Amino acid sequence: MTPKSTISGRHGEVAVAAEGLIKRFKTGRTTIEVLKGVDFDARHGDLTMVMGPSGSGKSTLIAALSGLLRPDEGKVAALDQPNLWKLSDGKIDRFRLEHCGFIFQGFNLFPALTALQQVTTVLGYQGAEKGEARQRAKAALEEVGLGPRMNQRPSELSGGEKQRVAIARCLAKNPQLLFADEPTSALDGENGQVVVRLLRRAATEHGAAVVCVTHDPRLEAWADRIIRIEDGRILEDQRRTPDPNATLSH
Ligand code: ADP
Ligand code: MG
Repeated sequence: MTPKSTISGRHGEVAVAAEGLIKRFKTGRTTIEVLKGVDFDARHGDLTMVMGPSGSGKSTLIAALSGLLRPDEGKVAALDQPNLWKLSDGKIDRFRLEHCGFIFQGFNLFPALTALQQVTTVLGYQGAEKGEARQRAKAALEEVGLGPRMNQRPSELSGGEKQRVAIARCLAKNPQLLFADEPTSALDGENGQVVVRLLRRAATEHGAAVVCVTHDPRLEAWADRIIRIEDGRILEDQRRTPDPNATLSH
């Protein structure tokens, strides 16, 4: 049967929490500390924005939270896993596959596949049966407004449409942890707005903990919470009321 995520937290419950995260990178003889003891949490139902200048450690932080990049020190608790980085590599991969969704600036689509196949393929990796994968993929593409475009390949889609395919691929899994890394930076205002609204909905309607990393202050309007990071440290953590009707234009 379906490997669709079986874990779903209640709105307001902590979905992922990190304590004392330290990450260093070695380049040649110098070592730089990119995360300098970060404590972080994100809750189900929240769109949490992590804002900070380029190079402040935002991408490194979400990689460490999602099982993509092992921190040097510190602990990550995620969903039902009290200590993600204590699991075997295989189990970490499995956790990521089952429970995490990713949206990147560059869309990361397979060039040869249609929009529908982008989504069914990923559901197939998860073990979904063909007919069911197709059904869920179609529903997800309709949700992002791409029903009529589902047989197009990436080269036939605009940047905004490509990002919506990436979001549909992610939503079809119903991930309880959704990580978006600069998801609007390659898009114009109108398409960026479609994307941030979909992230908003993933939190509100699907109960996902959505962690969106960005250096675009215009996205703040949709956030429940804004965390500011600079030089590997969290400077500010502020809760706010999102404005679902906010507009983003250049
Ligand atoms: P942000 O996403 O906020 O722009 P990153 O987390 O990507 O920042 O990077 C933070 C710092 O770590 C930067 O100085 C970057 O050059 C460095 N860095 C990131 N990944 C690596 C890596 N794999 N090897 C060496 N340095 C890295
Ligand atoms: Mg980055």
